[in-house]
Amino acid sequence: MRAEFPEFRLGNVLATSFTATLTERQGDAVERIPTPHRLIDWLAVNDLAVDSCTTAQLDLARELRESIHAAATATAIQDDLPASAVQVINDCSAQGRAAAVLTPGGKRRWQLSSACSVEDALSVIAADAISIIAGERDGKLALCASPTCRAAFFDTSQSRTRKWCDMNTCGNRQKKARFHAKQRKNGTAARADVS
Ligand SMILES: [Zn+2]
Repeated sequence: MRAEFPEFRLGNVLATSFTATLTERQGDAVERIPTPHRLIDWLAVNDLAVDSCTTAQLDLARELRESIHAAATATAIQDDLPASAVQVINDCSAQGRAAAVLTPGGKRRWQLSSACSVEDALSVIAADAISIIAGERDGKLALCASPTCRAAFFDTSQSRTRKWCDMNTCGNRQKKARFHAKQRKNGTAARADVS
């Protein structure tokens, strides 16, 4: 029997999709890769399929995740990068063997080593984090405006004024909260439907 696990939050940027496997960091945190098998699932939907995952590899993945979160947060608020986070990201980047390959359709895919190990997949994620933290890609790291979330996300909007890590969750919740506050102020009954 398969237990129910929280769904993944998938975005367009690999590194911040990965940090989004832990949400509501400043509130009631939700761990979306609670077991090695869920990390395997997450890697598979991100085109980084691996054969197996141990508890130690899951721990390593979470260590990388929190290091990316810390470094991305520091970048978003223009603070110095935490040295320990940089070390973990660099170690993970250097440890894996993954090669970029071109598909016949002209897309890039990551080919993991013949072992298809978690370390290979983590090296791809670490390299992705390095490219956005180093400012190599068109976009800007920012922090989600939700006080219980504060996730670092990569804002690629034209105006660079995106406020929430995810419109469907944090953005929507904020909109609803504001609507209800306004209704209370006006002394009218709040309606549940605000969309
Ligand atoms: Zn958020």
